[in-house]
Amino acid sequence: MKVTASGNNLFQLTNLSVINCFLVRENDGFTLIDTSLPGSQAQPIMQAAQTLGLPIVRILLTHAHLDHVGSLDALHAALPNVPVAISERDARFLSGDKSLDPSEPQTPLRGGYPICKTKPARLLHEGERVGSLEVIATPGHTPGHIAFLDTRDRALIAGDAFQTQGGVAVSGTFVFLFPLPAFSTWHKRLCLESARKLLALQPSLLAVGHGRVLSNPQPAMERAIRVMEQSLAKEEREQSRVA
Ligand SMILES: [Zn+2]
Repeated sequence: MKVTASGNNLFQLTNLSVINCFLVRENDGFTLIDTSLPGSQAQPIMQAAQTLGLPIVRILLTHAHLDHVGSLDALHAALPNVPVAISERDARFLSGDKSLDPSEPQTPLRGGYPICKTKPARLLHEGERVGSLEVIATPGHTPGHIAFLDTRDRALIAGDAFQTQGGVAVSGTFVFLFPLPAFSTWHKRLCLESARKLLALQPSLLAVGHGRVLSNPQPAMERAIRVMEQSLAKEEREQSRVA
């Protein structure tokens, strides 16, 4: 597992070159954001925290896809007193409930949503704070996807709302060099709205589930939003022609 530091508080842990999770330094220890794939990832994640000199004191999840909650149960077994938090909406997927609400677009879910034994101790909502991090509701990639803004330095940990692997893109945009996030995206129009919301936060840094951390990310985020706007407009024109 490769560890890359971005400033003093953010550490990216990368598995298989393309699957990221993050350690955020707080006064009381590390907040782990996402848990990588299943298999033997719990040990290297804990090892990374130990090498950096702080314990993991809480686990946050951006969404319930396999490559973000994969090692949740193994980590929870090893760290039973460390509380786990996820959005109230995506928490339902962890228990195996894959229903959509009547108020949501009835677009089929995509990507793997594994059932997890771990019960979240806290269910998160827009605007709530966890340590230095503010919860930003960013539905689209999944119905309950959330991002985290570090209020100390405006570092944005955006989960799969954006990707930087293969080029900076809004989730749902087909990226030839790394199409995995597009293949697992639920609702593109909501992704676009969430991407605009994240750009409006004026982040100083963009950290994502797939790809490297980007400093001064706003111009690249703007370009990615334009690309998504154009491809979505084209798609919706074609759909209305078929209809
Ligand atoms: Zn995902």
